[in-house]
Amino acid sequence: MDRTIPVPDKSLVTALRRSLGQHQVSVSDTDITAYSRDLWPRGMIWAMHGRPAVHKPVVVVWPKDLEQVRAVMKIASRHSVPVIPYGAGSGVCAGTLALAPSIMMDLKKLDKVSLDKDSWTVHAGAGCMGQVLEDFLNQAGCTLGHFPSSIYCSSVGGWLATRSAGQMSGKYGKIEDMVLGFEAVTSDGEVIDIRDEQEAPGLVQLLIGNEGILCAFTKARLRVHPLPESRIFQAFGFDGIEAGLEAIRLIYRAGLRPSVTRLYDELDSLVARSYGIGRGKESRFRDVKLPGVLARALPDLSMKAVKAVLGRPVVINKAIRLLPSDCMLILGSEGAKACSDEESRSMASICESLGGRNLGPEPGEHWFKHRYSVSYKQSKVFRSGAFVDTMEVAAPWNKVADVYHEVKKALEQSAFIMAHFSHAYMDGCSIYFTFSAAPWGGATLEEVYKQAWRTALDAASRAGATISHHHGIGYSKSAFMKEEVKGGQVLLSALKRELDKRGIMNPGKLGMDFD
Ligand SMILES: Cc1cc2nc3c(=O)[nH]c(=O)nc-3n(C[C@H](O)[C@H](O)[C@H](O)COP(=O)(O)OP(=O)(O)OC[C@H]3O[C@@H](n4cnc5c(N)ncnc54)[C@H](O)[C@@H]3O)c2cc1C
Repeated sequence: MDRTIPVPDKSLVTALRRSLGQHQVSVSDTDITAYSRDLWPRGMIWAMHGRPAVHKPVVVVWPKDLEQVRAVMKIASRHSVPVIPYGAGSGVCAGTLALAPSIMMDLKKLDKVSLDKDSWTVHAGAGCMGQVLEDFLNQAGCTLGHFPSSIYCSSVGGWLATRSAGQMSGKYGKIEDMVLGFEAVTSDGEVIDIRDEQEAPGLVQLLIGNEGILCAFTKARLRVHPLPESRIFQAFGFDGIEAGLEAIRLIYRAGLRPSVTRLYDELDSLVARSYGIGRGKESRFRDVKLPGVLARALPDLSMKAVKAVLGRPVVINKAIRLLPSDCMLILGSEGAKACSDEESRSMASICESLGGRNLGPEPGEHWFKHRYSVSYKQSKVFRSGAFVDTMEVAAPWNKVADVYHEVKKALEQSAFIMAHFSHAYMDGCSIYFTFSAAPWGGATLEEVYKQAWRTALDAASRAGATISHHHGIGYSKSAFMKEEVKGGQVLLSALKRELDKRGIMNPGKLGMDFD
């Protein structure tokens, strides 16, 4: 990571300015600093502790069309300078971290959208921001059905590059299920234009999820849906995650496709309750009195309480186990009214047959109203001197519960941990762990952070999980990627050699060596 390559000379910037124009190329300190990190929490720890950005681009560019993207690639190739495609910088795995002096290529100016309602598809520029695209579609009576929690601060290109998942993936699929074709540019300026999956069977999926190491996406052709006629929520309380997981498994096995599936473990259910979700009369949460320190920490994440709590992970995790709680499952159904009514009834009968207590529509409706809020409450934790991060893994049904328990057991010694299960399939589902810690036992925050990640990923892999479901690999999990996909790595390396002959596309990410 600390390899130094010569800082490119001024002729690079001159060539970029000549091609793109003065205002689309910047070497200002402000821009360089702004583009020197994404939302990787370790980068935030560096920033909070005043550590100067050692990994930073040398120049930031904003090409405005396909030809300008090609020009940037050709110039980068000529100068042998790395190029990092940049969407909106909401990635949480250091996917855009410049490991060497690089060109940061922000694609936000490629933001044109056009709808073809006859074929229910939209052409969206890679730089189009998520909510802008969804608003545009809603005005025409359509929806993409892609609702990542970062919808306000992530781009179409970033979604494709990371294989993003939205909160309604159960019904609409992940982004890779929505992509019909795309336009992309390789590092020698060649254009890959696949309008339709039928035109090039299998090839679309080959490049989706490449995290900018093979090409820069400039445009996507995506499937859209009519806005749903009806949207129904219901929720159930289960004794433990196993019963809730079995309900989800049976729901998917029965061929039902809930738009929303969210099973919270005991602690995540308590936290959800502290945000007002799940106070139904059948819920055990109703009468729970939290011990003093938790009562303060959970609802408001009061800063002092947060640090006090997070600095004592073992004690606090033990205390949590004593709290009476159940695991809340929120299910959503949407589409044509007759279908969603029927789907809701079938799901309710599966849940009730497994002992699920019906909590009514309120928890789901409340969640829906505030569905993007929780993700933006984390900065207080960082300001208190602690960190919070999330790890999203996935496993087949026969391993999901083991993965959950193993990761929890491993991490409970050093961090405060909770989880929910929010993307399900016929054959398995994902687990979204949230963990948080403050410096303890003489270790610095960064040391505690690194150790927590290593512990969590080791435990997840040992128990049979894949190391990422939708956040991608980036730089942060790159070393683990090599371990996980030994065979796949051969194919990926071959593609890299072919499509990026000079090795300048986002080096050091997605398990690729940085040399
Ligand atoms: C609060 C919060 C909530 C989140 N919730 C979700 C969620 O619900 N679901 C989810 O999937 N993710 C979520 N994320 C993670 C993140 O938003 C996604 O990974 C998103 O897809 C990144 O998009 P971006 O445009 O910000 O990409 P960036 O962060 O700019 O880039 C991410 C990676 O993609 C590459 N890249 C970007 N654009 C292109 C392009 N045009 N061509 C080629 N490569 C490109 C970059 O080089 C980098 O490797 C969340 C993040 C935050 C901070």
